[in-house]
Amino acid sequence: MRTLNYRRNIVGKAFIVLIISCLLLIPGYTLADTPNNSFNTTPLKPAYIDSLDDLVDVQVAHRLAPFHPLPPRTSNVDIVELLQQLNESLIQGYLANLTSFGPRLTGTEACNQSAHYLYEAFQDMGLAVRYHNYTDSTVSGSNVEATLYGSDSSNIFIICGHYDSVAAGPGADDDGSGVAAVLAAAEIMRNYEFYYTVRFVCFSGEEQGLIGSRHYAEDAYNSNDSIIAVLNADMIGFAPSASDGIKGKIFENDASEWIVEFTQDISQLYADYINIELFPQGQSGGSDHYYFWQFGYDAVFYHEYNFNDYYHSANDTIGNMNLTYSTRFTRLILATLAEMALQPRPVLEISSITGGLGITSQVTNVGEVNASSVNITISVTGGLLGLLDVSSTNGIDVLPPQNSLQSKAKLFRIGNIQIGVTAGASNADQVTKHATGFLLGPYVLKLVITP
Ligand SMILES: [Zn+2]
Repeated sequence: MRTLNYRRNIVGKAFIVLIISCLLLIPGYTLADTPNNSFNTTPLKPAYIDSLDDLVDVQVAHRLAPFHPLPPRTSNVDIVELLQQLNESLIQGYLANLTSFGPRLTGTEACNQSAHYLYEAFQDMGLAVRYHNYTDSTVSGSNVEATLYGSDSSNIFIICGHYDSVAAGPGADDDGSGVAAVLAAAEIMRNYEFYYTVRFVCFSGEEQGLIGSRHYAEDAYNSNDSIIAVLNADMIGFAPSASDGIKGKIFENDASEWIVEFTQDISQLYADYINIELFPQGQSGGSDHYYFWQFGYDAVFYHEYNFNDYYHSANDTIGNMNLTYSTRFTRLILATLAEMALQPRPVLEISSITGGLGITSQVTNVGEVNASSVNITISVTGGLLGLLDVSSTNGIDVLPPQNSLQSKAKLFRIGNIQIGVTAGASNADQVTKHATGFLLGPYVLKLVITP
């Protein structure tokens, strides 16, 4: 009995030890498996809200169109020239100017002075600049936006950071580092011509719940702005050790995955100037990219690997930053932005819809580069109980500029019909056109394109 009891105890104890070991080991394994090895992690939420639940819930459809999977170009002459101009003293100068106003809590005089400084800095660069004012129940303020127009101004890329800080400190890293990146990118890019328009945007109201960027994204959405990518830099200058100085975080949603890949390609392509490996983190509600997601735009959030020990304190100073790291991280964002803005995209146009024997429609690539995986679909509806419903699709792998692809739908009945033609490509916006007609046997008569 005794022996048996003893053995039972041994087994019981061994079992308990095993359970405890598992409990200890499982989180240990999880930690080792994730790129983040710091317990002090990321800005989970803006400073002055209680939880992410306090952020406004927006329900709009993703824009769908701007998927942009082009690899970085192989010609890198211009980009290297840009990167060579981005050095520590440029970053340090902007940080010194920005922190000279003291804490930049939104609504305070120091914050307004900072906005004025940014406005004048952009103006001195020769860029089109404006205040984007917002009024909100929580806080009111101004974002500062500068624009570098591209030869195709219908598509827009954004680099952004927030210039407001918490009341407790000078916000050198949070987010002077991001604003310095925006200013440095503007200062360098302004001397070059880009294919697409680039906006350099500094938000306020971030710490109160992403207020400035929410209004900005909402206004962009309501204006139907075609923003292809938003690159948000928030806290990219803290790296106390050498190993922290070669790593960075990037937060993304599924739709923005392509920006992560694009940035990683850039990081390798210009490794000599950048030398930062990026670790994707998934979604975050902790910074200004968030409402771009909410309004259906693609956006990412760049962030230091080792979270700042002096976050939201009086010690978030330039002295506690790693300017070499900040400079390299800024180069990564600059090169990504510049490469994206230099990439021309194909543009599809439905050039004709004609009747006669069946319906024939044609899509033309009116852009400057090849369109990939192009398809055109003609859908016909009409007749009693949809008796006339029919659709016809044609596709092609590559459609060069100024070339067309045709699709033909054949029918045989009588009645009024509605026609919808849709064309898409993996690297271009989808386009749609509608028409009406009358079907008499195999012939489509009175075909009229709907304006
Ligand atoms: Zn921040």
